[in-house]
Amino acid sequence: MNNLADAFTKASRILQHIQEAGFEAYFVGGAVRDHIIGRPIGDIDIATSATPDQIEAIFDKVIPVGKEHGTVMVRFEHESFEVTTYRVESGYEDFRHPDHVAFVKEIKDDLKRRDFTINAMAMDQAGNVIDPWKGQKDIMAKKIVAVGRAEERFREDPLRMMRALRFVSQLNYELDAATFQAIREQASLLNEIAIERIAIEFEKLHAGSGAQKALRLMRLTGVHHSLPVFSQYPDAFEYVPLLPLQSFSEIVVHYYAKGDVADLASWCKDWKQSNGVYKAAEHLWKQLVYFNDQHLDAWLVYNLHQNLFTPFSRLCEDMFKQDSKAIYSELKRIEKKLPIKTKRELAFGAEDLLAMYPDERKGPWIKQTLNELEQRVVTGALENKFQDLKEWVIKWNPPEHV
Ligand code: ATP
Ligand code: MG
Repeated sequence: MNNLADAFTKASRILQHIQEAGFEAYFVGGAVRDHIIGRPIGDIDIATSATPDQIEAIFDKVIPVGKEHGTVMVRFEHESFEVTTYRVESGYEDFRHPDHVAFVKEIKDDLKRRDFTINAMAMDQAGNVIDPWKGQKDIMAKKIVAVGRAEERFREDPLRMMRALRFVSQLNYELDAATFQAIREQASLLNEIAIERIAIEFEKLHAGSGAQKALRLMRLTGVHHSLPVFSQYPDAFEYVPLLPLQSFSEIVVHYYAKGDVADLASWCKDWKQSNGVYKAAEHLWKQLVYFNDQHLDAWLVYNLHQNLFTPFSRLCEDMFKQDSKAIYSELKRIEKKLPIKTKRELAFGAEDLLAMYPDERKGPWIKQTLNELEQRVVTGALENKFQDLKEWVIKWNPPEHV
């Protein structure tokens, strides 16, 4: 286990346990790829010759997350690892789920069913790599290459076409010519895939450092004709973001702002996004419209949800060619100086107002007066002191104003 990254240390002990029980076990998939590239690794997946039942007999805590497909979750020293029995798949009649999953004896057969050569490597705990599809060579060449015949592999599972473009973006690699051609010929098969699964890949694609390149390839291959909204308005796809966008709300705001073909609600609905994504997109849009008009001021910063500072900064760069880092530090600088952070901190409330005008009926004038006060305090026109606010109210005399 000499020079393997720390991240593999604990997982190595799982391999050890499985091997001591008389079976084979390897690290597989994205963790091996990222380790070889030298990127931070995500989840560590393990492939084994043992069946799920045999894994359950080896470890104390095993959760049967997808036992019928050969996958169980091993809980080991407070961490979870997916352990999957070597398997092959066949069928794919409905383009989504293989009709049949068969367990196999050889790691090489398992690697063959994987999507791209860089994802089709296995590694033992000493760092020895099993690489029948020459994934390491493709890492050196920075290429996304389908395992086997690309055309067949995309017919089996069209989502792989989205994954190919997503990896192009995340790794900033190129698409192998045959893989490119196969996507171009079969892009329309993506119509068979659940939007939710496509959306996950589309979001990851926009977040990658090679997003612009991946989006260009997406257009060249015609994939966008099979995506929600873009299928009706392909021109909306011409507006490539100026920088990687890290959330679906940002993506939706970007295309909405540039394309103006469907409203935010339709973008979110057609892409089957949650209400939370829609709300964030609406909020961002509202503040960006204000920004376009007034630039950055205390009122904007006060109204902008703090967890959207970063998305907002990125969209300022994307839409207005601002420097997102400068916008972000300006947001933080203004935020620090805000006299109040929420309405509740206002030194004057509805009850104070009612006490001043006991004969007035309750109504919208109360809310409007407090809003006026809030805005004046936030922008520094009034100090947040009870007496100052009361005096302003007397002068303004709200019941007459509303
Ligand atoms: P990430 O870093 O985003 O997790 P990953 O390569 O680990 O990337 P996963 O979706 O976690 O991707 O899948 C783990 C592995 O399973 C992949 O590396 C690949 O070998 C295989 N795999 C995943 N999806 C497919 C697919 N649709 N077709 C074939 N193999 C797949
Ligand atoms: Mg993974």
